[in-house]
Amino acid sequence: MSASRNLAILGSTGSIGRSTLQVVALHPDRFRVTVLGAHRSWQTIVEQALQFQVSTVVLVDPEAAQAARAALRGRGSAIRVESGAAALAAAAAGGDVDLVMAAIVGAAGLSSTLAAVRAAKRVLLANKEALVMAGPLLMDEVRRAGAELIPIDSEHNAIFQCMPAGYLPGDAARGVLRVILTASGGPFRSAALESLAHVTPDQACAHPKWSMGRKISVDSATLMNKGLEVIEATLLFGLPDSQVDVLVHPQSVVHSLVEYADGSMLAQLGAPDMRTPIAQALAWPERFSSGVQSLDLAAIGQLGFEPPDHARFPSLGLCRAAARAGGTAPAVLNAANEVAVQAFLERRLNFTSIAAVIENVLQRLDSFPVRALGDVLDADAAARRLASALIEPGSGAFV
Ligand code: NAD
Ligand code: MG
Repeated sequence: MSASRNLAILGSTGSIGRSTLQVVALHPDRFRVTVLGAHRSWQTIVEQALQFQVSTVVLVDPEAAQAARAALRGRGSAIRVESGAAALAAAAAGGDVDLVMAAIVGAAGLSSTLAAVRAAKRVLLANKEALVMAGPLLMDEVRRAGAELIPIDSEHNAIFQCMPAGYLPGDAARGVLRVILTASGGPFRSAALESLAHVTPDQACAHPKWSMGRKISVDSATLMNKGLEVIEATLLFGLPDSQVDVLVHPQSVVHSLVEYADGSMLAQLGAPDMRTPIAQALAWPERFSSGVQSLDLAAIGQLGFEPPDHARFPSLGLCRAAARAGGTAPAVLNAANEVAVQAFLERRLNFTSIAAVIENVLQRLDSFPVRALGDVLDADAAARRLASALIEPGSGAFV
């Protein structure tokens, strides 16, 4: 492999960020971690910064940045600590960075992801919400700037691996009839329907196959995650949503499939561990070890597939409707979901009301064409205001 490359990890304290550092630690001669960014977990980022001897740490929260600065000084380090979202975006676009792992959760990741794309970096994209919100804009910027976008989401990474050699997201998917995203079905695939209203945040976050951050865990339990991934796939691979199918596959070892015009169906298999797609993206176009155990197919025995249950998981249909509406609709959907999931995690909203809030917000806010980033941000803000008002105790809309 070529000489050592400089890596920025945005969201380094999260589930994907920590897994990325684990993989990088296996290949110290191939990467130099130059930038670490996160929201406010200063103790974790200080440990990471010292271990990897980075040049810059960015904490968006100013008080946390102050605490990290003091802690690093106390340990005799001259690592630079900056604060604020603008500093994070600037660090991602910096001249000393080759690769950017975009692993911030939610809309908060949009500005730094976009900055990395505009600076023509190789962007390893975990932050699916940025793509859902501003998809056509972001993909136009990828093409204009000549950036490289490599999907980290396990399904999209699987599809990327099943594409012809040399294919990169944003290119036309020649000869592809459809892509099939697999879904584990989450923790409530076969729970009694009437029990879903009483599900607790801890139950929703106890995913049967994957260990992830809390927001994506709730999205997986509602199947919103799969809906966001349908939108993500339409954008990355340039396909209409009618060519993006979803299959429930409870074993979670087939991570997704591509069907070609000649009847061939290619799949990527592996243990359900994000270090595999992370290592694939870091090493691309080569391969190296990820630390993941090899898959024992004989022990698994059987692989099952079934169609998703739309009555149980209305979020999937809402995502397809937003994908078809286009314009600002996906940004509205994403923002309403972020507000509703946060309210659920804080026990201010029932599990089954998450989809109801999103549906209500989508019905009330018209979709507009997106001409500039401001249109996306305005739609995001309007959807957050409306979703918050609906959830407010006393609004009478949801309990
Ligand atoms: P997480 O909650 O574990 O970590 C989130 C990270 O984002 C943290 O480092 C946090 O400090 C940072 N962050 C949060 N708010 C921020 C803000 N306002 N400004 C700057 N940084 C902020 O989340 P995760 O599970 O690692 O997921 C990260 C992204 O990867 C999400 O978009 C998720 O959908 C995607 N993803 C995750 C997995 C997984 O297995 N965890 C799989 C596929 C895709
Ligand atoms: Mg996924």
